[in-house]
Amino acid sequence: MGPRSRAVFVAAGCALACAATNWNVSALEQRFPALAGINSHQLGASTPYLLPSRGVLTLFLCRWPRGPAIPVSLPPDATAEERRLLEMALGAWEGAGLGIRFAIAEPLARGIEIRFAPGAETESQPQPETPQAGITFADCAVDPEALTNLPGPVLPARIVFATVWLHRDGRDMLGRRVAHTPEELIGTALHELGHALGFQGHPRRGDTVMNASVDSVRRIGRRVKAGTHFTDTTLRALYSVSSGAVVRQVTVSPGRTAPVDRMASAARRLALSGPILRVGDRAARLDWRDSGGRVYPLLILGIPELLRAPETLRVHALRSTAGLLSSAFPSP
Ligand SMILES: [Zn+2]
Repeated sequence: MGPRSRAVFVAAGCALACAATNWNVSALEQRFPALAGINSHQLGASTPYLLPSRGVLTLFLCRWPRGPAIPVSLPPDATAEERRLLEMALGAWEGAGLGIRFAIAEPLARGIEIRFAPGAETESQPQPETPQAGITFADCAVDPEALTNLPGPVLPARIVFATVWLHRDGRDMLGRRVAHTPEELIGTALHELGHALGFQGHPRRGDTVMNASVDSVRRIGRRVKAGTHFTDTTLRALYSVSSGAVVRQVTVSPGRTAPVDRMASAARRLALSGPILRVGDRAARLDWRDSGGRVYPLLILGIPELLRAPETLRVHALRSTAGLLSSAFPSP
């Protein structure tokens, strides 16, 4: 997990063609009264996690369990000042009414890993979603039995790991490299930590640090740095419902979920762990892993189009996965 599997980036990025809501939030409010009590949240604009299985595409929310502190690893190369700013961002989320807390810990088997992206821009490193920002991968673990039974209203799923990449500098309007101000670093860290906490997507309206607007992220960073109390109704909304809460289920032709069904069967036969799910604004993936740590991903592309027309679902097997499937299920 983390920066090791970089072959296909599935991360939050700003899609311009986002709808105001991606699914029907009022149906969820009826099931979770605490959600109905939160005003002006943008949870309906989140991109749900996707589980295709046995002819059904299930869209659901995923977050960290409340209770145990979430382990966090800070960048080993952070200066004392950068460390202080990152701890301010973590403290702001702890005080935001989500019921979560963090504990600085090394090394991480589960938790949130925060790293500074290397300075040189190369093809092989994660590119920020905007010139100012960072990039985050948030891994949602789904219990394998969810793939053998038709999912109920709440999937057995929770976030188990996230990697946050922050950039120390961005580009100005003339393309020149400029170092981030402390306010920008805090604002970006708050935004990326919001993804790490399980909120994917970028609402186009609302007072949330998950908003796509760089100005709004910078403004919130300035407020937090000045010591103003921080809260975010959109993340509070996510944490007011159960992790794994299903927001939509769509019947699709069984052939469209077949790659996942075959992987689930191969995983049982070969004792693979998984699946671990990620979703970004444009793509989603499901990973299984063998005992040697080798990853077998399935990929779903075109997320905005899929949310509009779920019956068009297509699941793609990357080469390692296709190889595993053809050896597990040889053609007659
Ligand atoms: Zn983002």
